[in-house]
Amino acid sequence: MPGKVTLVGAGPGDPGLLTRKGLEALQTAQVVVYDRLVSPAILALIPEAAEGINVGKQAARHPVPQEQINQILLDKALEGKNVVRLKGGDPFLFGRGGEELELLAAHGVAFEEVPGITSAIAAPAYGGIPVTHRDCCSSLHIVTGHQRLGKELDIDFTALVRTRGTLVFLMGVSALEAICTGLLAAGMDPATPAAVVERGTTPAQRRIDAPLAELPRRAAEAAVESPAVIVVGAVCALAQQFDWFDRLPLKGRTVVVTRPRERSGTLAARLRKLGAEVWEYPCIATHPLEPCPALDQVMERLGEYGWLALTSPAGVEVLWRWLAGHGRDARALGGVGLAAIGPGTAQALAGHGLKADYVPAVYDAAHLGAGLPAGGRVLILRAEEGSPALTAALGERNIAYDDVATYRTVYDNPRSQALRALVEGEETTLVTFTSASTVKGFVSSVGADADFSRMVGLCIGAQTAAEAQRQGIPVKTAKAATLDALVELMMEGV
Ligand code: SAH
Repeated sequence: MPGKVTLVGAGPGDPGLLTRKGLEALQTAQVVVYDRLVSPAILALIPEAAEGINVGKQAARHPVPQEQINQILLDKALEGKNVVRLKGGDPFLFGRGGEELELLAAHGVAFEEVPGITSAIAAPAYGGIPVTHRDCCSSLHIVTGHQRLGKELDIDFTALVRTRGTLVFLMGVSALEAICTGLLAAGMDPATPAAVVERGTTPAQRRIDAPLAELPRRAAEAAVESPAVIVVGAVCALAQQFDWFDRLPLKGRTVVVTRPRERSGTLAARLRKLGAEVWEYPCIATHPLEPCPALDQVMERLGEYGWLALTSPAGVEVLWRWLAGHGRDARALGGVGLAAIGPGTAQALAGHGLKADYVPAVYDAAHLGAGLPAGGRVLILRAEEGSPALTAALGERNIAYDDVATYRTVYDNPRSQALRALVEGEETTLVTFTSASTVKGFVSSVGADADFSRMVGLCIGAQTAAEAQRQGIPVKTAKAATLDALVELMMEGV
């Protein structure tokens, strides 16, 4: 049976602007054919099992010709695959979506189209420009500024000027001068407000405002590049007032999130909402030690302990794997006090219906050891090479403990040239560290010989900061060991 092709509009860049229907299509796709303008954050949503086919332009290479793209879609559908054709913005607005459907229709292959949010409206919107406003205009015209090689622009400027509506030009960066000249020659007021919005809706968005007559010069000075939309009309003046995106507190900042993959999502999403460009770069992974005879032993003697101390959500998960693997559940922990190093770990416990009996006021190993209420032997379940501060503090108080390693932290990321270039670049890159092991993982990915002097390590606590300093990384430390405090630190400006 032939499969089906779904044309999906990916929106202009911000991954939040992918529609729900588009996301559903993507998540169930077996083949995803995508091009250049689809943002990496959306490409990251493609299921691992799906075949991804990049038909967009890459560096020096040419894009796959349209006929060939049409053929790929047809072939994959005829193989019985569920195919998604992912396109920037809306597939039917200067996206050649119609052409791609013709061949499918001719072969009787089923297809569907999921409209996307177009850059023609969204890029101005993120630039603070509403494309219409009752006081300014009564129409909107979306025009292609694409110039065929060696040909004149095929635009009826006189007709456009007569509409008195807002004009939005796509694919117009290289023809910007010709577009503005054409409008002026057709009688448009040289003082008409105009703007270019480059890489709209992404953290790298820039808006250049100028009266129509000056726009080409100003855009050239700013070295504007494609993709960008050109907006002409009185509505452009509203940007001064409505420019919400550029005012986001972390706009223009690049933040690297180094947490393990399973836990990087929430922090990354929060930072994106604040306008940051976020690189999710999980430098560490946690691997449970299995089999783990030491854990088997202590778990059988759990009744002998007064306290069970956990120092990370990963530790909680490993404990749960063990319980589940032994046909047990939370009741096995009934008699023992539960101590969590901080709110993240306490929350992981809460996820299993358990309340932490003790969380230190300062969320680190030293304070956990110093403040844990006395009362029986302490069982510590944590990573190999856990911080000695915890056991030292217990030792000082003459509290007996067993320190059992239940998982290993691995630095399994390949060397990353891109990350190194970012860190050593002109702009200050912020790198979040939520544990000493994320620092070690980061350094092993970037290379210990890198120049860390221009970056700032935002550390969740004193031990993490100490590790970063040891590696020569300039640091700032959060007031408390929570993600909230880490985000707050960023907002203070670095
Ligand atoms: N179907 C797409 C447009 C494809 S034509 C849509 O609906 O958005 C490609 C042009 O779209 C680019 O030359 C540029 O003018 C515009 N464009 C696409 N993404 C953009 C973005 N993030 N910011 C500004 N312009 C963008």
